Amino acid sequence: MPKTIVSAYHCTDYSKDNIYDIVEKIVKSFGNLFEIIKPKSKVLLKLNLLSAYTPDQAITTHPEIVRAVINIVRKAGAIPVLGDSPGNLVNGIEHVWEKTGMLQLAKEENVELVNFEACGCVEVSIQHPTIKQIYITKAVTDCDAIINLPKLKTHTFMGFTCGVKNFYGVVPGARKVEYHKLSPTPKEFSYLLSEIYRMIREKLLFTIVDGVWGLEGNGPSLSGQKRKYNIIAGSQDTVMLDSFILNRLGINSKNNLLLKPLKEKKLGNTDLENMIYIGDSVSSFNFTKTKLPVTKFLNLLPSWIARFVTKYFGWLFWVKPHIIEKKCVGCLQCMKSCPAKAIEKDKKSLKPVIRKDKCIGCFCCHELCLHKAIEIRESFIASLFIKNEKK
Ligand code: SF4
Ligand code: SF4
Repeated sequence: MPKTIVSAYHCTDYSKDNIYDIVEKIVKSFGNLFEIIKPKSKVLLKLNLLSAYTPDQAITTHPEIVRAVINIVRKAGAIPVLGDSPGNLVNGIEHVWEKTGMLQLAKEENVELVNFEACGCVEVSIQHPTIKQIYITKAVTDCDAIINLPKLKTHTFMGFTCGVKNFYGVVPGARKVEYHKLSPTPKEFSYLLSEIYRMIREKLLFTIVDGVWGLEGNGPSLSGQKRKYNIIAGSQDTVMLDSFILNRLGINSKNNLLLKPLKEKKLGNTDLENMIYIGDSVSSFNFTKTKLPVTKFLNLLPSWIARFVTKYFGWLFWVKPHIIEKKCVGCLQCMKSCPAKAIEKDKKSLKPVIRKDKCIGCFCCHELCLHKAIEIRESFIASLFIKNEKK
């Protein structure tokens, strides 16, 4: 595979001018701006808007990163539009846009916010063991090019989320739950993500990750802990960018579950020896002793061992979601988003109950609960494998 550029700069806050300078330096490291972004083209900026969180919660892409990219797209003479399909839409997309600062930004910069749910979808064929076709938002087919703007976060199900995982948001609304059900293990889910990435790749100009602030621990939402990584990084090869970030987090990218199918399909580089690095010294970024999710040991095990352990020692060795009754407000959003239909409404309390026998351990409920009412618990034996301190 040809060598690819990863460009990364030290950044400690979201001050507008500083962010613009860094983002511009990153884009220029890829080549001539007007050759990268075609004048008059419609460019979709794919954000990470997981749910209705404010920018200071470090869960969603920060508006100042988005503003910088809007201005660079305009400088090239192209037309930027913004969009994502949040996982939790309990109060509607407008509420998500407002909380995440995107509504204000869109007004200030006079840019269109695309509703992935409302703009329609198209059916596409994929190569996957259990899914033959998926629907993706028409926002992807309606644009000429895509720029990917993920947030740097740890992730209980996949280990981490950065460039490639961010594209799951092109699947609109509840279909995300449906496809998750059909690809319940991290391995199957990785194959699904690799197929989505394969579709997007031909339009993808580059990815810039917002890692000034991100999450560590049990991300990607409220249960994660805010972490100042002090980095903004970008690449035209999102797989290489993810590999770089993964290695900074202390995980070898070569056999990573998320990146493996991408490597097999030759959709990008995972070997850092093929990286041309441009930017600040990597020691200026703050990745020392990053807390990984409690589930990290399951992702690190070879899949056949993980399957064996889960099948025969599941009673002894488990990591599962647990509902904290006192915190639960009974909104039942977890029930609606559970791909395995493992959450039921208790007839008496009208609150959710998890059927442990049906739970596939995807942690979507944990990710989407807006009240921090779902925590992750592990058995004593599993806890011996987990070196992370928990708060
Ligand atoms: S656990 Fe969270 S998402 Fe589920 S019903 Fe309770 S508050 Fe709502
Ligand atoms: S209960 Fe939670 S972790 Fe278990 S399958 Fe449902 S959404 Fe996934």
